[in-house]
Amino acid sequence: MSRLARSLTYLKPHYDVVVVGSGYGGGVAASRLARAGKRVAVLERGREFLTGEFPSRFPELRNEMQVTGRRLRTGSAAGLYDVRLGDDMHVLVGCGVGGGSLINAGVALRPDARVFLDAVWPGQIRRDGLIEEGYARALRWLRPARDPEASSHTKFKALQQASVALGQQPVAAPVVVNFAETVNAAGILQPACTRCGDCCGGCNVGAKNTIALTYLPDAVRHGAEVFTHAKVRSIAKLAPQPDGGGWRVHLEAQDAEHRPPALTADMVVLAAGTLGSTEILLRSREQGLSVSDRLGQSFSANGDIIAFGYGAKVPVNAIGVGFPERVAGLDVGACVSGQIEIVDEQDLANSLTIQEGVLPSALAPILPVMFIPNGRLLGALQSLVAGVYKGPFAGLQTFFAVSHDSASGRLVLEDDRVTVRWPSAKDEPVYRRLDAALEALVGKSGGSYVKNPLAGTVMGQQPATAHPLGGCGMGQARDAGVVDHKCRVFDGRAGAGSTDVHDGLYVIDGSVMPRSLGVNPLLTITALAERAMLHLGRDHGLAFDDAPRATPSAADVREPAAV
Ligand SMILES: Cc1cc2nc3c(=O)[nH]c(=O)nc-3n(C[C@H](O)[C@H](O)[C@H](O)COP(=O)(O)OP(=O)(O)OC[C@H]3O[C@@H](n4cnc5c(N)ncnc54)[C@H](O)[C@@H]3O)c2cc1C
Ligand code: SF4
Repeated sequence: MSRLARSLTYLKPHYDVVVVGSGYGGGVAASRLARAGKRVAVLERGREFLTGEFPSRFPELRNEMQVTGRRLRTGSAAGLYDVRLGDDMHVLVGCGVGGGSLINAGVALRPDARVFLDAVWPGQIRRDGLIEEGYARALRWLRPARDPEASSHTKFKALQQASVALGQQPVAAPVVVNFAETVNAAGILQPACTRCGDCCGGCNVGAKNTIALTYLPDAVRHGAEVFTHAKVRSIAKLAPQPDGGGWRVHLEAQDAEHRPPALTADMVVLAAGTLGSTEILLRSREQGLSVSDRLGQSFSANGDIIAFGYGAKVPVNAIGVGFPERVAGLDVGACVSGQIEIVDEQDLANSLTIQEGVLPSALAPILPVMFIPNGRLLGALQSLVAGVYKGPFAGLQTFFAVSHDSASGRLVLEDDRVTVRWPSAKDEPVYRRLDAALEALVGKSGGSYVKNPLAGTVMGQQPATAHPLGGCGMGQARDAGVVDHKCRVFDGRAGAGSTDVHDGLYVIDGSVMPRSLGVNPLLTITALAERAMLHLGRDHGLAFDDAPRATPSAADVREPAAV
């Protein structure tokens, strides 16, 4: 596939719509508004990665790490894996054209119906039926599927064997992966998954339905322009004119020599993810934009953890082999093949999902080093000699577990960067529940539970999440939320119960979730984005459909991956 993005040199001074960020929310907004005939610019702070360009060796992966903490800033600001270290919680997000979809496991689940019964959501979400249409469209474009061979993978069998400890058998997990060659919704020919396990490193086969292979090429085909290295700092409302008002979008200077370009738009869609969109609005508020006092509140980690089991007495094979594969004949599977779903009918907060995961192949060389601080020197050395695919690391289990937390974190600006304030986060009951369940599973496999192999490093003991949600949560009125049910930003100047919104300003991404979802969030973020677009279309008299493109063009056929 040819590149989607262009250099900032080609940025025009004005667009009908500026979409900030290119993950799930940004991809949906760009595609639908471009289909409606709008002149759309997508501004993405990261770079573009074509299939075959994701890190396959550790030095490449290290070069794609950006780590930011209170007194720490390492790596390129456009690095693919963006780690934010916080005093109370760490967060991992993706950076690049396609956002988190580039490096996630692609598990696509709908939350328990009770999640939307919570009064924290604006009532229209339950009542107007458009959330159903949003999910239908998201499913049509992201096409989750269960691996028909899921139960034959060693890691699935290991989970199955251990699942006795929880009294619940695993099932195949729906992931946005093509298990047979197909033409996707954007008309792009995608090859079948090789089951290399590298989804969280970046799919070098092109089998994962990322936003860069679905919504974004659709947006570009309908005229949208995508720009990389375009980090938005803040936005400001333009004075009303007889022919409308609009917004000024301020970009960060790339270096001291180049003045940041300035541009205006009739409409701005903030889709920079939970951290990005909240940060932009917090900065914009400092510069005079009036928004709800709820800005930054109700941050949730989605009760999400990643943890490990070391020394299982059964084979697991949960280290990716990459593409082209590093070792032949290993049965790995997609990053997530199986999951255990535990539903508590009495108390939603106790429901949880545990998925078996795979670590990307590029991490393979440093796994023994990661586990040395935990005193497993002998096993680590054996693995160094035998290679992680044969020694004790062949029994390494990786788990992703998701449940519910109280969403009582807060995002604040500290030294001009957004950070999580949540001193009591580590005491959230969800972590005890998940630790207990995972310890039981690992024990059944004959291994020991490793909650955080990096605890002895700068990571410390704080919880970490890859599912940050909230900060610009939805609410019925401006004293209850930052955006309304259509993702329009409330005007903070109005009275407490007011539903007045800023004309032409939207937030459409994970930040609008007012609570934890209890399942991996990508499907719900996409569904709510599709729903917001349906409302936007109605409110502005815009016509667009979501019909998938049936046939691939020559330019859409995947180029051979770089070896
Ligand atoms: C390792 C990992 C595994 C995961 N696995 C799953 C899974 O299996 N299933 C699931 O449902 N979820 C998973 N997630 C979470 C999921 O990927 C995210 O919830 C999702 O990507 C969030 O979508 P979004 O639209 O809110 O924003 P994002 O996808 O985060 O996109 C935001 C984009 O905005 C850009 N941006 C940020 N700030 C600015 C700025 N100032 N200016 C311009 N651009 C900016 C970012 O670079 C990014 O590209 C995983 C996440 C990670 C990190
Ligand atoms: S398992 Fe490999 S080929 Fe399949 S989607 Fe994941 S990264 Fe791509």
